[in-house]
Amino acid sequence: MALDRKYSKSAGDIIKIKSDFFEKNEEMLKLSSHQADALLAQPKRTKCKICHAEIGEGTGQEVLYQSQRMRYFMCPCCGHVNSEYEDNEDFASRVYIDDDYLANYSESDRRKYEKRRDTIYIPKAKFLIDSLEKDGVKKKNIKILDDGAGSGYFVSALRKLGIEQADGIEISEPQVQFANTMNGEDVLTQVDAPDIASIIEKADVNVATFIGVLEHITNLDEVLDALKKNKKIKYIYFSVPMFSMSCFFEAAHQSCYNRHAGGTHTHLFTESSIKYMADSIGFEEYAVWKFGSDMMDLYRMICVSLDQNDNSNLREVFARKFLPMLDELQGVVDRHEEASEIHMIIKRKS
Ligand SMILES: [Zn+2]
Repeated sequence: MALDRKYSKSAGDIIKIKSDFFEKNEEMLKLSSHQADALLAQPKRTKCKICHAEIGEGTGQEVLYQSQRMRYFMCPCCGHVNSEYEDNEDFASRVYIDDDYLANYSESDRRKYEKRRDTIYIPKAKFLIDSLEKDGVKKKNIKILDDGAGSGYFVSALRKLGIEQADGIEISEPQVQFANTMNGEDVLTQVDAPDIASIIEKADVNVATFIGVLEHITNLDEVLDALKKNKKIKYIYFSVPMFSMSCFFEAAHQSCYNRHAGGTHTHLFTESSIKYMADSIGFEEYAVWKFGSDMMDLYRMICVSLDQNDNSNLREVFARKFLPMLDELQGVVDRHEEASEIHMIIKRKS
């Protein structure tokens, strides 16, 4: 089968959306430190999150790296990068707290919602639909369950592009209400965490999607098993954080907010651990789109460090010179398979 590999996209609009990371470094660092406390309070991880091989200090294994008080081990069997401590239910209950959602939304909230959807989620939805069409699946036959749908941006994007049978499930009731209000129809359903695996196992869909979700699931084994058992599901589309250039930048800039490793990201994927995961449920790689935020992370860390070193004036000169190169530089990282995120469609083996 011919694999479809696609690289890069423009970072310009995303910089504006993520400006919090630039302006609120101290605040974000504090939040990430609180999340690290929650993980450090858990039992040590003794088995790889993906392949369950024994990992960690107990096996005499060397530490791959450490960052923001957390140590990481690379699994000798599948190559997955695991933090030293386990992301269990207790960890999840401490770090996943509902944001405050307003009871009344204004027209400007809706415009913001639509802008975010169109900038970030329409390209993701297009990639999925184009890839499925190339494999002979007509648009009208695509039925999607989006898992961990958040505020419904991805489902909203799919519907905007003409996928009528796209629905999402989400744990957070406020997010579901927000999503349904913004869309003017029920695009999401609230579900409880223990029910998710059985919902996936019974879902009458041919595509399951997990955009920035798999890395947060504590009972990942059960969810993967449900995907394996539901034979109606022919494709799985996911994006996950990778062991990538951003990890090195973060390890070297400890006074800058760690967007990538740490916080709620307690483990990182590699090409080999993704392959292991897909194999284990009877799927194989079908299409890949790589575009990372590595160079944007580096740019942000240098800006924050310049501020911290009384060089705020130089920051603007740097921005003028560096930003025009940003997309090109990230393109190089992406093509070298070192991007911080991967978007992948895997297909059930026939
Ligand atoms: Zn492993």
